[in-house]
Order: sequence, then C-alpha cells, then structure tokens
Amino acid sequence: MTQTAPEKLIDSFGRVHDNLRISVTDRCNIRCFYCMPEDNPEFMQREEILTFEEIERFVRVVARLGVRKIRLTGGEPLVRRNLATLIEKLLAVPEIRDLALTTNGILLPEQAAELHAAGLRRINIHLDTLDAGRFKLITRRDGFEKVLEGIFLCKRLGFNPIKINSVAARGYVEEDIVPLGHFAREHGVEVRFIEFMPLDADNRWERDKVVFAQEIIDKLSSEIMPLVPVPDQDPRAPASEFMFEDGVGRIGIIASVSRPFCMSCNRIRLTSDGKIRNCLFAIDEFDVKGIMRSGGSDEEIAEVVRRAVGAKWEGHEINTARFIKPPRPMYAIGG
Ligand code: SAM
Ligand code: SF4
Repeated sequence: MTQTAPEKLIDSFGRVHDNLRISVTDRCNIRCFYCMPEDNPEFMQREEILTFEEIERFVRVVARLGVRKIRLTGGEPLVRRNLATLIEKLLAVPEIRDLALTTNGILLPEQAAELHAAGLRRINIHLDTLDAGRFKLITRRDGFEKVLEGIFLCKRLGFNPIKINSVAARGYVEEDIVPLGHFAREHGVEVRFIEFMPLDADNRWERDKVVFAQEIIDKLSSEIMPLVPVPDQDPRAPASEFMFEDGVGRIGIIASVSRPFCMSCNRIRLTSDGKIRNCLFAIDEFDVKGIMRSGGSDEEIAEVVRRAVGAKWEGHEINTARFIKPPRPMYAIGG
C-alpha cells in the first residue's frame, strides 16, 4: 500500500511553515514606547478573544498541516488568566515538539513555578536595560525589580534556554549594550538584540532610531571581547547567534531591518482575536474565529490556513518606498 506524505504548508516561494506564534491577549501591564501608546490603548473586548479550547482546536488542525513549534506571546501573555492550562493542552498535542513563551517577565515571580509545572521550559524574557530609571522611561511603568527577580527564579527552576530580548532603539539601548553583554556572560542567558521595527502604536519609528546589528556587534567586540558566530546555527532562525571568543556568553542579533531574513521565514501567526497573519508586516488577515464560531469544520479551518500561506509575499519592504505600515501595532499582532 502506498502511503501519502504528510501535508506541509509550503508557500509560493518554497518556504515550509512549521512554526506558529499565538497571541493570547492584546492586553499588557506595561507600555513600551515602541509597541503601545502611553495612554488609552484600544483593547479587544473579552468575547472577541479566542478561548483556550478554540486555540487548542486551531493547533490540532495546523499540527496536521505540519506545524511543530509554537510560541505564546501577546500583548503580555501572563496577564491572561490560567495560561498554564493552555500550556498543558498544547503540550498534549502529539505533533508539537517545541513550546516557548515570550513575556515581559513582570508576573514571573508569581507564575514561573506554575508554568514550569505545566511543562514549559523555553522562555524569552523581555528586558531592554539594566538601569531602573531607563526601564521606567521605556516602559512608562514600574516593574524592573520584578523582571530581574523573574529571570533569576526561572534560572533556579531550571528553565532552559532563557533568552533576554532587548529592543535596539536609538537613544535608549546604546548605554545598555555592554552591561547586557556582561549580564549574558555572568548569568548564562542569551541576550538578543532586536532591531527596532516600524510597529509602534505612536508612529515614532524612523530609520535613524534603529540601532543596527553591526553597531551592536562592533561595540560588544571592542568593549568586551570579539564575538564569533556560533557554529551549526539553524539557518531558519531569525537570530544570528554569536558567542564571545572565550566561549562565555551568548548574544543573538535579530536584524529584521538591516538584514531581513524573509527568505528563510517559516512562521505564521494567530492573533488573539482569531486572525491568521502570514507575516508580522502583513496587511491582509484571514479569519478563523468566524469559521469556528459558526460551526465550521476542521477542513474549513485548514483551507483558510493553506490560503493564508499561499498568499504570503516574498518579504517585508521596510527598506523600500513601497513599505506600508500594518494597521495593527505590535501589541495587537503578537510579537
Ligand atoms: N509582552 C511580551 C514581551 O514584551 O516580551 C510579549 C509580546 S512583545 C510584542 C514581543 C517582543 O516584541 C518583545 O520581547 C519585544 O522585544 C519585541 N518588540 C515589541 N515592539 C517592537 C518593535 N517595535 N520593534 C522590535 N521589537 C519589538
Ligand atoms: Fe507590553 Fe511586550 Fe508591548 Fe512591551 S513589548 S508594551 S511588554 S506587549
């Protein structure tokens, strides 16, 4: 008997999509200037947000289409109540090999043990600065000590890997590049610098406000010690990974603006209100919540996912005059 090969989500450029980012909420407990407006962000109504059961159903459908890796994000995913329950549900989907969480870390002191008990091991914690004053300037809220406490608690609990995300925005991050490099060396975490992208709610992004990858690499190399590329990197991962020459301390660089990695992109996204996005910078979205809530079948959901992947463009056009900023800011898409 001949067996048919398992289905894969392949777009018109031959890219295989096995990686799904799920936003579980658009709400957040801080207000980073490169993501949210300072006052009165417009949040979705509770009934617009997918339930855990709807998210699980979607994951079971896309798992049959070849999705193997999931990242939970937001908004701030830890403000969604009982997130550990969702983690347990998703880890029980047999095809899912890898589940990770991206968080701002403020609620980790309260929730890290529960997340670990639910089976989560991979975590990215967002911390732009090691200076409490600059933290407040960037996030427009308190919480610096909680994030540090959360990072150290995750280390003690055995999360691995722990990655620290820092947005490289000019006027904010420069003074932190070297301290964060030392932090990576001292605490055995990978610090990842992400070039500031035009996804802020306040439309303050300009090219001049991005601290580009090369500047970060040069600064770390000259002020700490030379960085060398980590061997055998996953060519489809967004971060280029480096280590210091003595082998101590890892640095990731996500050069979305200066060195776009669109041609190796393997990601699709599900927004908290149940829309598929085939790119962070996509303009069009594909609704699955409507299908689920009107009694649609799993095959109908699968068909929308195939359409979304089929419609994926070659790459974002941030570096061209054709670039159109997506209508949703970062917190409403899911970073
Ligand atoms: N609230 C969580 C957090 O901050 O990690 C998860 C959601 S947040 C949108 C995901 C990541 O997006 C953050 O770690 C942050 O580093 C990154 N981010 C947010 N706005 C950005 C922007 N305009 N450019 C580049 N990265 C950004
Ligand atoms: Fe919240 Fe994350 Fe956006 Fe900061 S980057 S405002 S923590 S969602």
